Amino acid sequence: MELTELAREIGFEAFGILRIETLKPLPEVRDMCAAGRCRLYGKRWSCPPACGSIEKCAQRIASYQSGLLVQTVGKLEDVFDAEGIHRTELTHKHRFETLARQARFRFPSCLPLTAGGCTRCAVCTYPDKPCRFPRKMMSSMEAYGLLVSEVCEKNGIPYYYGEGSIAFTSCILTS
Ligand code: SF4
Repeated sequence: MELTELAREIGFEAFGILRIETLKPLPEVRDMCAAGRCRLYGKRWSCPPACGSIEKCAQRIASYQSGLLVQTVGKLEDVFDAEGIHRTELTHKHRFETLARQARFRFPSCLPLTAGGCTRCAVCTYPDKPCRFPRKMMSSMEAYGLLVSEVCEKNGIPYYYGEGSIAFTSCILTS
């Protein structure tokens, strides 16, 4: 089964072809990580600086030929609906883990880039010991310097679905 078909079965509200040439890692996105937006910078193997320099990430991205962009879109009661945001995020992470597991099974060298840093272990082994689950761990699109709104726009997928909604976006790159 193709990954797009799998994405449909898993239930992503939106998905589409991701053109590798549209992926431009930006130091400014890394700067947002360093500013501590999600508080995982320097604390997880999945995140900068452990996930590699922006140049290394760009090189890795450029080694792939195609990609799939997937989104989970949730409804919110209002802009303060933190519970709705959290619920949508969990749904997305669960869906994407399923997709990434299948993708890694079929395409062992693929690169899944998720939304948010790795939270698989309550306490990460970084920097003292190797990652406990290197075959399951995933970096985020932001960790690779990708501005998600720009990636969506360049690939014809909405980033914003209007008032009362929230979208989480991830991608899988394949050779
Ligand atoms: S799988 Fe565990 S050890 Fe590896 S990056 Fe994630 S939290 Fe850290």
